[in-house]
Amino acid sequence: MAQSEVIPSIQQQWDLVLNRLRAEVGEAAYRSWLKPLSLVTGSLVTGNGSFVRMAVPTRFMRDWVAGNYQDRIQALWLEETGASTQVEVVVLQPARPVPKPALINVKSTPEITPELKPESPTVNAPVITPQVAEVRKITAPLDPRFTFDNFVVGKPNELAYAAARRVADADAVPFNPLFLYGGVGLGKTHLMHAIAHQIRTAHPEKSVIYLSAEKFMYQFVRALRTKDTMSFKEEFRSVDVLMIDDVQFIGGREATQEEFFHTFNALVDQNRQVVISADKSPSDLEGVEERMKSRLGWGLVADIHPTTYELRLGILESKAEQLDVAIPQKVVEFLAHKITSNIRELEGALNRIVAHATLVGRSISLETTQEVLHDLLRSNDRRVTIEEIQKKVAEHFNIRVSDMHSSRRARAVARPRQIAMYLSKHLTSRSLPEIGRKFGGRDHTTVMHAVKKVDELKSGDPEFSEDIELLTRMLEN
Ligand code: ADP
Ligand code: MG
Repeated sequence: MAQSEVIPSIQQQWDLVLNRLRAEVGEAAYRSWLKPLSLVTGSLVTGNGSFVRMAVPTRFMRDWVAGNYQDRIQALWLEETGASTQVEVVVLQPARPVPKPALINVKSTPEITPELKPESPTVNAPVITPQVAEVRKITAPLDPRFTFDNFVVGKPNELAYAAARRVADADAVPFNPLFLYGGVGLGKTHLMHAIAHQIRTAHPEKSVIYLSAEKFMYQFVRALRTKDTMSFKEEFRSVDVLMIDDVQFIGGREATQEEFFHTFNALVDQNRQVVISADKSPSDLEGVEERMKSRLGWGLVADIHPTTYELRLGILESKAEQLDVAIPQKVVEFLAHKITSNIRELEGALNRIVAHATLVGRSISLETTQEVLHDLLRSNDRRVTIEEIQKKVAEHFNIRVSDMHSSRRARAVARPRQIAMYLSKHLTSRSLPEIGRKFGGRDHTTVMHAVKKVDELKSGDPEFSEDIELLTRMLEN
């Protein structure tokens, strides 16, 4: 047919219609409702019209578009092409690449075939849940290494670990929300990803969203800007498990907080699992409304404490095994002793010495470790001050901090003072005279004597030795 050369393709026709509509409805509505429409099929029947099918990712959108725009689309189509066109709107997961394993995905997604799988009104089991596409859009990637298997459990994190496992394994929501909190680099994100991995494996049909509070805010602000808060709400409120990391960043942002609060309530009311992390407990969150703080504390609040020497040792051993390198026990102990700030730094230190050893082709020794990590070791060193030691020791023995500087010689204060001097020598890089000065201007020989005395007592008295060990650990953390 010669005529067919001048007939625009269905896609071209749709572009024309879409442009007209865009001018009519305005930018915001266009972005929310029309831009997401994708032309999936169409038959061009010249003469008595054509038939086109549009896809949207959710049922909600389908109803809205069908209710508000379908007639107009048909009318414009007729105007633009002179042919009557029947438009049908269906729910279809948009064609996206098959997710990488690092993404939390919901269903094991079938490859999208060019064929349609429209949601038929007579069949009430849609092939693909509407959330699938949405969830994939907003969830952040997961680190494949952050699994329960790779998580080393110790005293400081056993509660958080047990709670996370419970959430991941339970059939019914065990507590809502699970609120994990602790300092930076202690495993909050790791545990959240582990929950997501686990649920994804056991229940591929569940939709799991993991994202940082910052991302959540960003999404929300963007939705506000495009006036697309409807689909924002829909996206978040249709999930099975919502995990928001580092929620302290929500503090002070009223509108986002409000939205978060509503989303949170909606999900909890529907008995969907919510998992939250923050660097502080709910009640200590700054700039967060009272009602929100109290709501966040309704479920299980599990804190992750600073690491202990044992946990650091365990983590180093586990990581070394994963890296498949032999590291001398002395080096492992040295690192566990020295890198006390957090697990991320500990891991970083290990990676550095392993990388160094591989690069220069030398085996790992205590000496190379000290060399490679000297900057890190210094900054970890500087963490404990003599003042902190004095305060901690005074608390521990129930004496006044001023007794650290006083000249009182009673055993009840003299012994703790000696212990504090001993710890100052071992945990800081201060010289003996410097330490002496901080203890009420004492001579460096007094400090030396204290160090010797404490060493003696330690070797003769296991209980005393344990006490010192305990203090050391508390101070290192
Ligand atoms: P946070 O989110 O609390 O700041 P992350 O979860 O990002 O900390 O943890 C920092 C790093 O330490 C990650 O690489 C993580 O895998 C590791 N890590 C934390 N806790 C553990 C643990 N108990 N066992 C093994 N690795 C851990
Ligand atoms: Mg984190």
